[in-house]
Amino acid sequence: MNLARKNIQEISPYIAGKPIAETKRELGLKKVIKLASNENPLGTSPKAVKAIKRCLKELNRYPDSNSFYLKKRIAAGLKVIPSSIVVGNGSDELIDIIIKTFVEEGENVVTGDATFLEYDIISKVYAREVIKAPLKDFRFDLAGIREKINSKTKLVFIANPNNPTGTYVTKSELEKFLSGLPDNVIVVMDEAYDIFIDVDDYPKGADYIGKNNIIVLKTFSKAYGLAGLRVGFAVAAEKFAAFMEKARQPFNVNLLAQEAALAALDDKAFLNKTRKIVLKGKKYLYGAFDRMGLKYIPSVTNFILVDLKKDGVTVFKDLLKQGVIVRDMQQYGLKNFIRVTIGTAAENKKFIAALKKVL
Ligand SMILES: *Cc1c(COP(=O)(O)O)cnc(C)c1O
Repeated sequence: MNLARKNIQEISPYIAGKPIAETKRELGLKKVIKLASNENPLGTSPKAVKAIKRCLKELNRYPDSNSFYLKKRIAAGLKVIPSSIVVGNGSDELIDIIIKTFVEEGENVVTGDATFLEYDIISKVYAREVIKAPLKDFRFDLAGIREKINSKTKLVFIANPNNPTGTYVTKSELEKFLSGLPDNVIVVMDEAYDIFIDVDDYPKGADYIGKNNIIVLKTFSKAYGLAGLRVGFAVAAEKFAAFMEKARQPFNVNLLAQEAALAALDDKAFLNKTRKIVLKGKKYLYGAFDRMGLKYIPSVTNFILVDLKKDGVTVFKDLLKQGVIVRDMQQYGLKNFIRVTIGTAAENKKFIAALKKVL
């Protein structure tokens, strides 16, 4: 007997990047590198590690339910008030909180059709309809999104930059989109990769809060190297943040995550080093792809979408045997692509050597 709700039965589960230990175990490999989940190749912010060690002796206590110091620090950095910040167990949890806070039964969610899968999956968990607009040249097409918005639309998710394509919407595109938007629609700008941006016309979502119904999402998982601890945050108008606060679990952000995130925000040296290695690695990988005659989508993030002109799942599996984990793009409907995270110089080199072998 199938007892689950119908919408749950219909969900295709999220497939995460393959873990290193699992790959070693299954393929009997000793050395495996992971370039599959856009993680920081340098590890974790040393300041965060120190903070974690310091509070290990306090794990008998519940964490601060209000993430007081973390919110205060984030708010100061963004020049907003702490009550406009909501902290979550990764921005994944904030996507969940946003959908359950704002989207009524019968209302829908609009997003792009090759984007972060959680917008779609979590909407379906709550049995909310998702309408997807095709990307244009691998970029969010805001005019196309506008056309999909109807009287039942409550939320629009824009990953800026987009995962898995690495592209971004420009300031003028966003402003044009926002100016024509009905005021009962909330736009979520998911800025998981904003720290890697190296262009001038990128719009910071936080600049539009107050003028428009905007919620910005940020995470400590990528640039700060804290994916394993799970912590991210939302920035929104105070009234939106207050509703989200009501919908979250009281202890959603654990003690180590709060302390580590707080310390990581002050680790400018680690952040700069991370940016540098990503920008340098990107140049190297572009050059290697050019020499191999492979097309790729220019990226403003720490990952690159590569067009293999052949089945990406096969290449993904062959790369695994070489001890390199990347991401196949089957779930995103990009059959002939893989997405590779920019790693250390040695990892990038190993990946290119393996890719040459496999192709
Ligand atoms: C990685 C990623 C997230 C998830 O971040 P967590 O804070 O680890 O949950 C959210 N959005 C996008 C676009 C991402 O790529």
